Amino acid sequence: MNHLIRNILKVVTVGLMSTSMLLTGCQSSENADPITRSNLKLGTLVGITIHDSQDTQLFNILFDRLDAIEQHMSLNIKTSEINAINASAGIEPVQVSEDTFEVIQSSLHYGDLSKGAFDSTIGPLVTLWGIGSDNAKLPSQAEIDTKLPLIDYNSVILNIEDKTVFLPLQGMALDLGAIAKGYAADEMYRILDENKVNSAVINLGGNILVKGRKVDNTPWRVGVQNPFDTRGAYIGVVSISDQTVVTSGIYERFFELDGQRYHHILNPATGYPVNNNLASVTIITSKSIDADAYSTVLFASGLEAGLELANGSNEIMAIFVTKDKKVYVSDGVESIFELSDNNFILQ
Ligand code: AMP
Ligand code: MG
Repeated sequence: MNHLIRNILKVVTVGLMSTSMLLTGCQSSENADPITRSNLKLGTLVGITIHDSQDTQLFNILFDRLDAIEQHMSLNIKTSEINAINASAGIEPVQVSEDTFEVIQSSLHYGDLSKGAFDSTIGPLVTLWGIGSDNAKLPSQAEIDTKLPLIDYNSVILNIEDKTVFLPLQGMALDLGAIAKGYAADEMYRILDENKVNSAVINLGGNILVKGRKVDNTPWRVGVQNPFDTRGAYIGVVSISDQTVVTSGIYERFFELDGQRYHHILNPATGYPVNNNLASVTIITSKSIDADAYSTVLFASGLEAGLELANGSNEIMAIFVTKDKKVYVSDGVESIFELSDNNFILQ
């Protein structure tokens, strides 16, 4: 199945789940029905539901902003700024918009924080493997070896004053796939806030960011994806307000060959998919860019280093699911998370 269709299915199921929860929450409310709009953006289905306003014009502002972010950061749009940076690798710096600059800067910060496990210059390897595309393949070791020297977030040269980005080696390529959706979700939140919306759900392909609380003043209940089941199946629920829930895992994009699964989060040191005992990592925090980056960071860092990073941060909470169905949580998660699937064991 093509990955776009898989993503759509994923979001539809997540959407159904949150819809049923939203309906339960609204039963006793006298408010009008929520308004909602969905569209394909940033390679996934984006759904925004507003619960305390009937101003459908807002969707135009929101989706126009998503268009702009996509035009800047998508690898699938030939004229994007990110493609311009990649095409000028080894040649010259490229001036970009504030938003692209900010996301790249943030991605380099997460490179440091993860000691290189998160590396937004992973582009050449992502293209080589093609995981999630119709050209997915197991590359030869020789092919991987030619790409490894091109993966080095530390060598990216940013000029803060001119807002330019320079990749010093020809063949280097940025890929903001692990972080851009989080940035986009935060932008949706900002616009909703500026327009006095206080109760809304932003869903970018399963990355959820909620604004405020439900109209009955209870927290939103968001399912945590079961990494072994169909999309939308969840292992439990987190209760949140003004927070985001983002999961990275082996179930999202992958292909199988000779009984072996190759998933989409790559180890910049080996060039192969990250191979540890994690099936997924879910992050709960207030900013979606951090949740998106951290979910990839902690997945790539593994359980032990990941738990340490989560517990060392005042900002984030994390839920780790291992391949043997154990669930590990960082400090603070117990008070907001209910595990409901008893095939999983809370450690
Ligand atoms: P996510 O689903 O947010 O965990 O992001 C995964 C996506 O980020 C992949 O599809 C790639 O585009 C990109 N990616 C893969 N491996 C890495 C890595 N080690 N560091 C940063 N980005 C990565
Ligand atoms: Mg991510």
